[in-house]
Amino acid sequence: MDTHNVVIIGGGAAGLSAAIYLGRAGLSPILLAGSPPGGQLMLTSEVENFPGQKSILGGELIDVMRKQASAFGTTIVDENVGSVELVKPVKLVKLAGGTEYKTKAVIIATGAKALWMGLPSETKLRGKGVSACATCDGFFFKNKTVAIIGGGDSALEEALTLTKFASKVYVIHRRAEFRASKIMQKRVLEHEKIEVIWNAAVEEVLGQFKVEGLKLKTPEGEKTVKLDGVFVAIGHRPDTDLFKNQIDLDQKGYVLTTAMYALQQLSNKVEQTKTHTYDVHYQTLTSLSGVFGAGDCVDHVYKQASTAAGMGVQASLDAERWIESQ
Ligand SMILES: Cc1cc2nc3c(=O)[nH]c(=O)nc-3n(C[C@H](O)[C@H](O)[C@H](O)COP(=O)(O)OP(=O)(O)OC[C@H]3O[C@@H](n4cnc5c(N)ncnc54)[C@H](O)[C@@H]3O)c2cc1C
Repeated sequence: MDTHNVVIIGGGAAGLSAAIYLGRAGLSPILLAGSPPGGQLMLTSEVENFPGQKSILGGELIDVMRKQASAFGTTIVDENVGSVELVKPVKLVKLAGGTEYKTKAVIIATGAKALWMGLPSETKLRGKGVSACATCDGFFFKNKTVAIIGGGDSALEEALTLTKFASKVYVIHRRAEFRASKIMQKRVLEHEKIEVIWNAAVEEVLGQFKVEGLKLKTPEGEKTVKLDGVFVAIGHRPDTDLFKNQIDLDQKGYVLTTAMYALQQLSNKVEQTKTHTYDVHYQTLTSLSGVFGAGDCVDHVYKQASTAAGMGVQASLDAERWIESQ
């Protein structure tokens, strides 16, 4: 079996951007893009904030990136990786179907999944008024009424983001108090455009072809709220189970790269991690030599296609320099 230069795991914005750079550098990367491939951008319709694209469908943006990566010599395989052995100098990446790849370097770009409420009506109206990203889709709701579902810091931050566009923002929370920080709560509770509906469970997203409202269950009985958009902000889950026990992950399962490790130490959220020395010359390096991380599986703050792409580029440049140094 040949030993490849780099195997990239994950075919979203981060993995594809890494592939474009590594392909142009002549390293013939293997991109194991997963099934279905394309990542979170496949869940959205219009993307209007990716530099260079005034307006493009998420799926179309992925398609262009895949063509660009292939044109520069990337081999793309739309299958899931089932297991990895990353510790030794030659790393082994195995597809769920059994095919194995030996490689010098690995870039982990497996992304994250937004958590949804799990209602059929929510699934039906995704991209038709139901979203999981206020920064991405808030702009489409200028002077409209929207709701945020959730009560943590990121839900309240998204609610404040939405006030820049919407005329009215409901925050729908299933408990009688928020989990978010006091300062965030104060900003939300004092905001003139925001109304909180406490102790409310969403039973159904109303609307046939686009969001028209929400049916809520409250202690006072069933309640219907008319609105145009619903933003689900109940958390994200990084797709990193594969790498547990091999590389250092943070408490929520995000990949700890040099940069994230340093930031977390600055905010004292991490004491000493388990095993490894981090190398400041490689900001996307994980706790294992030759293994890099990029995109939403690392970043739980910015979570944008362009930031994921940027980190993919960083990881590709790190991997290229690292391979040269060996
Ligand atoms: C509803 C919605 C709308 C959005 N709209 C916008 C927008 O308008 N603009 C914007 O900039 N951002 C938007 N975003 C955010 C953006 O989509 C993400 O930030 C970006 O896609 C992250 O890219 P990524 O490559 O890190 O991860 P992902 O897009 O999550 O891709 C990860 C990839 O890894 C693959 N994978 C996972 N596990 C395995 C495995 N075991 N083996 C192989 N492959 C695997 C997955 O199949 C997937 O293809 C939106 C997100 C959502 C949810």
